[in-house]
Amino acid sequence: MTTTATPAKARVNPPKVKAQQPMLIGGKWVASVSGKSFSTVDPATGQTICEVAEGDKADIDLAVKAARLAMDGPWGRMNASGRGRLLNKLADAIEANKEELAALETLDNGKPIADSLNADLPLTLQCYRYYAGWADKNHGSTFPVDGSFFSYTRHEPVGVVGQIIPWNFPLLMQAWKWGPALACGNSLVLKPAEQTPLTALKVAELAQEVGFPDGVINVVPGFGPTAGAALASHMNVDKIAFTGETGTGKIVMTAAANSNLKRVSLELGGKSPNVVFADADIDAAIEGAYFGLFFNQGQCCVAGSRLFVEEKVYDEFVEKMTRKTKARRVGDPFHPDTEQGPQVSKEQQDRIRGFIEVGKKEGARLLIGGADVPSSLSAVHANGYFVEPTVFTDVRDEMTIAQEEIFGPVMSILKFKDVNEVIERGNRTFYGLAAAVWTKDLQKAIRVSHALKAGTVWVNCYDVFDAAAPFGGFKMSGIGRELGQYALQLYTEVKTVIMAV
Ligand code: ADP
Repeated sequence: MTTTATPAKARVNPPKVKAQQPMLIGGKWVASVSGKSFSTVDPATGQTICEVAEGDKADIDLAVKAARLAMDGPWGRMNASGRGRLLNKLADAIEANKEELAALETLDNGKPIADSLNADLPLTLQCYRYYAGWADKNHGSTFPVDGSFFSYTRHEPVGVVGQIIPWNFPLLMQAWKWGPALACGNSLVLKPAEQTPLTALKVAELAQEVGFPDGVINVVPGFGPTAGAALASHMNVDKIAFTGETGTGKIVMTAAANSNLKRVSLELGGKSPNVVFADADIDAAIEGAYFGLFFNQGQCCVAGSRLFVEEKVYDEFVEKMTRKTKARRVGDPFHPDTEQGPQVSKEQQDRIRGFIEVGKKEGARLLIGGADVPSSLSAVHANGYFVEPTVFTDVRDEMTIAQEEIFGPVMSILKFKDVNEVIERGNRTFYGLAAAVWTKDLQKAIRVSHALKAGTVWVNCYDVFDAAAPFGGFKMSGIGRELGQYALQLYTEVKTVIMAV
């Protein structure tokens, strides 16, 4: 008998990147006012990719002026259907460049190329197309008032919106912010995360090419306490939308309150309970819990980082999860078979390692993983920011690793006995972003999903995202809902008109 070996999949080539990247203000690609730039780094190797113009207050001022001019110009007068057509054209342009964008995302962020291509890009495209459809459907209504009046509401754009996004899903977070903002007719100033500015700049270039008028879209890369703070506290910005840590969200909200009381929407951290009952399909729960924690190197605000497993199946679950995690392929993010790349930065790598040490010290049982870089890594990746997939068991609610957002590939498994207990423990956190429940008992599924205080609850699945599904946090996980029809509210002012007749 002869066998044919499956040919090994070829490594995807990293994209070529210009050594100097300017910023986009008022339709022009410009250097920063200060002349300063910063390096963006390939987290898989620790090498500098290129230099990016570093925006600060002066650049934010110029970008806000340009955005205001656009609102008062052709953009403000454009038909709603015209905005929809432009958003569809942007989606088409992104699709035509999807390989390059995926490779750029992998280079700057470190996420495996298979994830960039098969998760980030399709969701990004879906989001732009979804909001293209909304552009001419976000309308007010007439309503009866007592007396002789004709009364109606108009849905008007909020105006100039500032948007600050994180580094974990750069393309997708940009789409979540730009899709509804542009559909509703706002102009915008985006500050991408300092770790991952490259895809935002590339999408801005595509937006210019497809014909968004100058100044509608401005992208100012830079750091949080400088460029980000200038945007949040700007007197001529009408709304700030922020995604990032809860602590930073508080700073942004304070800045908004202390300046012009601009509208604020926040999508913040989480410590999501993922609850596995003994009557669940255990193999499906293993898959879901594994994906729900390790996806994107664990750098997800919705990561199922408190994995509650019912006592009766705890040992079986832990044994299977350990076996599965051991087989995780960590390494070169440009290899199509890689499941886990590096963390985004040295700072994040050190932070995660710190949590692992605290976990051990506080008495959690380290089953696999830990502080070491995976031994399978090649020399070129020796200085990359990798962390081994790690599983802790015997985790108790009061331990640091069960309370704080680790944002890394560190799983904490906790044991529980009954439904009431797990609901109470699941809710014992100031976060409320997401949760999941695994069971075949319909009543139990409904009861638990209604009792858990979280913006999204997944039942017998995890990390299912869709542009149509509203997303956001209860409690200190945020304010407002992105995605779906709800996101239109974030970018719309409702005007009431009452006319005597
Ligand atoms: P992380 O620690 O995961 O990077 P952050 O909340 O610090 O999360 O960052 C998310 C985004 O917020 C980034 O674009 C960052 O530059 C920005 N940011 C950080 N600090 C501030 C700040 N003081 N004001 C406004 N934006 C900030």
